[in-house]
Amino acid sequence: MNDADPIRIAVIGSGPAGFYAAGHLLADRSGRIEVDMFERLPTPWGLVRSGVAPDHPKIKSVTRVYEKTAADARFRFYGNVELGRDIDREDLLEHYHAIVYATGTPGDRPLGIPGEDLEGSWPATDFVGWYNGHPDHKDLDFDLTCERAVVIGNGNVALDVARMLTLAHSELAKTDTADHALESLERSGVKEVVVVGRRGPAQAAFTNPELIELGEMQDVDVIVDPKEIEAALAIEDPNMDPTAERNVKGLREYASRARKGSSRRIVLRFLRSPVELIGEEGKVTGVLLCKNELIPDEHGHLRATATEERETIEAGLVLRAVGYRGKALPGVPFDERRSLISNDEGRVTDLDGAHLVGEYVVGWIKRGPSGVIGTNKKDAQQTVNAILEDIAAGKLLSPESPEPETVHEMLLRRRPDLVSYEGWEGIDRHERALGEPSGRPRVKLTDIDEMLRVAAAEQPSDEPLDTLGLR
Ligand code: NAP
Repeated sequence: MNDADPIRIAVIGSGPAGFYAAGHLLADRSGRIEVDMFERLPTPWGLVRSGVAPDHPKIKSVTRVYEKTAADARFRFYGNVELGRDIDREDLLEHYHAIVYATGTPGDRPLGIPGEDLEGSWPATDFVGWYNGHPDHKDLDFDLTCERAVVIGNGNVALDVARMLTLAHSELAKTDTADHALESLERSGVKEVVVVGRRGPAQAAFTNPELIELGEMQDVDVIVDPKEIEAALAIEDPNMDPTAERNVKGLREYASRARKGSSRRIVLRFLRSPVELIGEEGKVTGVLLCKNELIPDEHGHLRATATEERETIEAGLVLRAVGYRGKALPGVPFDERRSLISNDEGRVTDLDGAHLVGEYVVGWIKRGPSGVIGTNKKDAQQTVNAILEDIAAGKLLSPESPEPETVHEMLLRRRPDLVSYEGWEGIDRHERALGEPSGRPRVKLTDIDEMLRVAAAEQPSDEPLDTLGLR
């Protein structure tokens, strides 16, 4: 390859990690890098669209940064094209000098306890996808007729779902919550959500703003038992950081608050682990919890250790918010133990640790499901630095057909209904227009066929590549 030739890079996945990687690659001073981004859905943004809670519109405004990346003439978006369904790794090796996997961690971690599969017990990730209108989750049927729901886990997802279950309809109605969820939540009978943490307030994984906003909800009392949190705080945690200190302060403040007599309640419980989900006629009716003690391991890390003490909380809905889990991609080395693509700081490795030339990874499928959206910017920079180093050292793939026209024609043959960036912009305009009369940011399309119809009306279909505007 000539020193002036374009370097063609495929990014698989259009969430924050994929977009930060694309942005960093296109910012390379050589100006030789071109990026084709592949996304299995017709819509981009990954968890910014389908994970961030609808009542957090400011967080979603990060997409403006990604829109700038998408506007670069060296960027093309191929929506509705799935790795493993429409193209495979071999196709990518044939057409690109490098591949960046940015597929996230779409699965959920199971609890591994009896009763987990009862009706009414769900991974929180399903509930999140459902209220955010993700096409894979739109048809799920959450029975919200019960009075009490239990959320297992003490991370930000646990607080997101607790809030979504208790926000007043007037608060939700101005958001982009999917219409099916908005209707269902309006009719919901849930009055109390119990959030169960296996460790104490100082070890909770949620962050300060998310804890504080619970106390600012219109018609919700936040209930914390002072005895329960003080018992957990009696064990000193050497790893306590400023976030944990502020969480403790916030929880003590909730514990001392007088109840407002609100129509809904969020109860934050600590030092309790689910032992079994109890059910009748196949449907969950409660959670059997054990009380835990905090015992330091050899590194001083406080671990939850079960005692003999048990209690049952009645509940008709259980959401398990104990973390996400990565999924293997066909042909790409996968570390089953950590549920991640095997990698060395972003360079994909085989299972013996040897680098695979030209294959890279970013985001949650690289480092695990942790951190906030911005964490992916730095994470992607690390991988892009590795790519640039490898380019300088001549360690790239040698694709047989790197010309952009060839891959484009192949994609059109395999997926005539692929969605270009213009197609997505059409969906975006359409959704925003639907939301306008009711003052909502958008009304989300949740059906793939409908998205494809709207996109097709917006993107030229029979023009040659140079005028196709497949950015
Ligand atoms: P997370 O932050 O890793 O929290 C998982 C929670 O589940 C922890 O409290 C963990 O407790 C608990 N857990 C794990 N296994 C358990 C078990 N077997 N039994 C009981 N509890 C168990 O995960 P997440 O809430 O899914 O969030 C993922 C990432 O997305 C996080 O980085 C989060 O901050 C981010 N996020 C951010 C926002 C936001 O900024 N608003 C919103 C949503 C998500 P231990 O600590 O004891 O392991």
